[in-house]
Amino acid sequence: MRYHIDTIPVWDALKLNGECPLCALRRKVELMDVDRYLGASVMEPDTRLQVNEKGFCQRHQKLLTEKKNKLGHALMMHTYLKTTMKKTDAAFDAAINGAKGDAGTPVFKRMRGKGGGKEEILKAAQALRALSSTCILCDSIEDNMQRYTYTLLHLYQTDASFRKAFAASRGVCLKDAAGLMEMAAAEMSGSMLQDFITDLCNATRKSLVKLEGDLEGFTLKFDYRNADKPWGDSKDALERTVTKLRSWCIGEEPNPK
Ligand SMILES: [Zn+2]
Ligand SMILES: [Zn+2]
Repeated sequence: MRYHIDTIPVWDALKLNGECPLCALRRKVELMDVDRYLGASVMEPDTRLQVNEKGFCQRHQKLLTEKKNKLGHALMMHTYLKTTMKKTDAAFDAAINGAKGDAGTPVFKRMRGKGGGKEEILKAAQALRALSSTCILCDSIEDNMQRYTYTLLHLYQTDASFRKAFAASRGVCLKDAAGLMEMAAAEMSGSMLQDFITDLCNATRKSLVKLEGDLEGFTLKFDYRNADKPWGDSKDALERTVTKLRSWCIGEEPNPK
């Protein structure tokens, strides 16, 4: 797979020296995308069609709401609602039909698991679940993250100073470590793959060990006897630990204003 290489944002993210440069990039893309969907692109027919098909997840509904453009948000939700209602109609009809079939099946057959319409009901349930789990923003962010993951690997292979900086960094979060490992296995081989995987794992492991100490220090500060003890690196240890284990979601924005 080939992606458009965009090295400067990846370098910038690494230089932030946070728990995960890819999380910082993801957040940047997310905020830009939310603006984009509430801006001019909302009126583009192609974007509109995609929104109608996929909608937005809970996290991104919340971010859209925070943008305080209720009209833009409502216009998108209105056409999305109309598109979705066609699909729910089909699922509800199928479920009702399945239940009717089940009620119409003689008891002795139902007891042996024969006939009935439970399968149709379960299929309808599956369709409803799918309707409430797609998100065009999540998909768009994921596309961008594939590109940045690819770019990070490209930089590692072609830029010695990046390789050095990456090895000395705090590594990445577990989710992004998984993505990097998968793509590295597909794109690299031999000693380059060995070097990259070793640097990735060692840097991330070192950061986890440091976090464990920092987080313990954070909890100890709640004991009044430690009130005068210096915070050291513990002040944001909780937020950094969450970032490492679950990707950035709480604490200060990972990118400077
Ligand atoms: Zn991450
Ligand atoms: Zn989403």
